[in-house]
Amino acid sequence: MDLLGAVPDAVPAGELICSAKGCRAPAAWGLLWNNPKLHTPDRRKVWLACDDHREHLEQFLATRSFWKQTVAVSELDRVP
Ligand SMILES: [Zn+2]
Repeated sequence: MDLLGAVPDAVPAGELICSAKGCRAPAAWGLLWNNPKLHTPDRRKVWLACDDHREHLEQFLATRSFWKQTVAVSELDRVP
């Protein structure tokens, strides 16, 4: 939970894989983002990223003003 009270979407309970196209590496990071045209302000969508793709994916989201925060995958809620 961040200062605005936003809660990231839960991620799958099993192994988490990087969201970058074609990457099958285990995810180390959860990139929290929000598209104000699609999501309410307290919604946080989650992209998963390995160490190699974290910066690339953050940049992709940041250039669209969607990026909010990056957290370690261990901080994400899992689907029960
Ligand atoms: Zn990756």
